[in-house]
Amino acid sequence: MLAIQKLGSITGRGTWPRYLDPVPYFICPNCKQRSIDHDRLQEIDNVPVACDRCGFGFLFELMDDYYPAPNTGFVVCDKDGRILASGRGVFELSGYREQELLGAELVQRFGLSGFESGQNPAALALEWGVRRLGEHMELRTRAGQEKAVTADFFPAYDDDGGLLVALTPRS
Ligand SMILES: [Zn+2]
Repeated sequence: MLAIQKLGSITGRGTWPRYLDPVPYFICPNCKQRSIDHDRLQEIDNVPVACDRCGFGFLFELMDDYYPAPNTGFVVCDKDGRILASGRGVFELSGYREQELLGAELVQRFGLSGFESGQNPAALALEWGVRRLGEHMELRTRAGQEKAVTADFFPAYDDDGGLLVALTPRS
């Protein structure tokens, strides 16, 4: 994969045979619209592309396609696990509005629990750069209610690092 990506950047992805080119998937952290890489995105590397459905400021790149549930809420964190943005559904799930979340540490703010000490999946995903899917966790809402959630963690692959977190209520 790495070798292909390197070759792709040398040859320019437009000329690299399409079947060897890893297809990046993008998802809007706000409205959850999924899209795949296309020429418009390829041309402007490192320039955030806004969501063409809801206008959200950037799309998050995933290695594989991902299908969020209708009630999934996305949270975007920086490389230290601090919240940069929260999408639709997060307020319904947690009672927190985005302004109350910005800059806060993800696990602390949402009172995420249900993992063993030293096994914080957000920290592990950031540290190792690997996805952590289907983590069963408890979230504490703004009103102090415990809610069962399934959490998926996706590390960012750009230079800034960071994390996309999908929180889905679990019944
Ligand atoms: Zn959107």
